Amino acid sequence: MHRTRWLFLVVLLWACSPWASAQHIIAFGVHRAADCEPVTRPLIDKLHGIGYPREWTIVVACTASIANRLQRKGDARRTVTAFTNLRQRLTAINRELFLKAAPLQGTSQPTARAVLRHEHGHIVCACADEHMADKIEGPEK
Ligand SMILES: [Zn+2]
Repeated sequence: MHRTRWLFLVVLLWACSPWASAQHIIAFGVHRAADCEPVTRPLIDKLHGIGYPREWTIVVACTASIANRLQRKGDARRTVTAFTNLRQRLTAINRELFLKAAPLQGTSQPTARAVLRHEHGHIVCACADEHMADKIEGPEK
């Protein structure tokens, strides 16, 4: 992250409720938070009720090139939508998740909400097992 000077970080704090903990949402690849709003606005909406842990960071790739770089950096080439790094306590989200119409292509989760729930499944099981991550979350609510 230190060498990526070309990235301008916009950190948004999202409090899911006044008394609960907050997640950090970091928008990568834009100079103003507003430039990533077509992605961050629906993201915040869809995160409601999923229950990402306190102090979890959600990194949003606001451009296609940033999405590619994050994917390479995260060694997550097999995923086109999102990946979670348990050790770094972060989930990286590709903007495509919110810019493309459902059903999403190249993933077994058909919607952005399903992808967010699947990634949360990885956090709950503390594992990289794809089936376990889906199983933990159960059918979409
Ligand atoms: Zn997965």
